Amino acid sequence: MKNNLVLLLSVLCFSFSALNASAVSHSAPPKWKVLIIDGQNNHKWAITTPIMKGYLEETGLFMVDVLTTPPKDSSLDQFMPSFKGYDVILSNYNGKSWPRQTELALEKFVAKGGGLVIIHAADNSFPYWKAYNEMIGLGGWEKRTEKDGPYVYYNEKDELIRDNSPGPGGHHGTQHEFVIKTRIEEHPIMKGLPMEWLHTKDELYDLMRGPAINMNILATAYSSKDQKGTGRHEPSVLTLNYGKGKIFHNMMGHEDYSMHCVGFITLLQRGTEWVASGKVTQEVPSNFPTKEKSSSRQPQK
Ligand SMILES: [Zn+2]
Repeated sequence: MKNNLVLLLSVLCFSFSALNASAVSHSAPPKWKVLIIDGQNNHKWAITTPIMKGYLEETGLFMVDVLTTPPKDSSLDQFMPSFKGYDVILSNYNGKSWPRQTELALEKFVAKGGGLVIIHAADNSFPYWKAYNEMIGLGGWEKRTEKDGPYVYYNEKDELIRDNSPGPGGHHGTQHEFVIKTRIEEHPIMKGLPMEWLHTKDELYDLMRGPAINMNILATAYSSKDQKGTGRHEPSVLTLNYGKGKIFHNMMGHEDYSMHCVGFITLLQRGTEWVASGKVTQEVPSNFPTKEKSSSRQPQK
């Protein structure tokens, strides 16, 4: 009888502490503060910002604020936000230049150790801002040419090529589902992901150019000539360092349906954690796409 009582008590104690531990982890406040900047973009920023905010917040790791710039036809002279208190700035912005003071504030934020996340057309922005192009590594459109840096890609023999030949920067073929291929398997953002997986319908950016310094190509996508592409393995997921700061640059994310890809969501969540902390604590979801089958979902309510 006494032994049974001891057993019962220890089971109860164990259950209580297990319950308590899970309650603590769920009620812990988010660790990282993220600021999404939008307001101008030739894409549907008013739809895609809440989608990304939702996917970040559902991890429990991030608290996300949104900063919307004045619209395209207004002056941005007074756009001088403070980045103080944030761990990560996420740009969903592709529009008019910012005041020099604001550019310098972002440069300082990243150089001192802040995280920056660049999604899709945010890498079209600011062609004349030198530090921004160093932070994103590769950019496109907005009259980018050989003056902005080389084309960077893997050729058919899987050799990494830096190509200084003249020509415009930034192009994409028709939208389609395409395979993302991991290039740096051991990077915390990529660890545990399949080496190849099928992304949902999106634009596959190619012919991107830029300074491409302090840059790692985590993944590429093959830009097929059948889809009016280049026939090259084009960089699609990058990380960079700028001063003490980290940058995660994902060229995917043209439309809402591109962002509902479980692969895109996983990269967004992991990339944002990595730029904030240098680590990734999130598991790979069980419904991650395979090479043959893409996988989509909606944000958790
Ligand atoms: Zn696009």
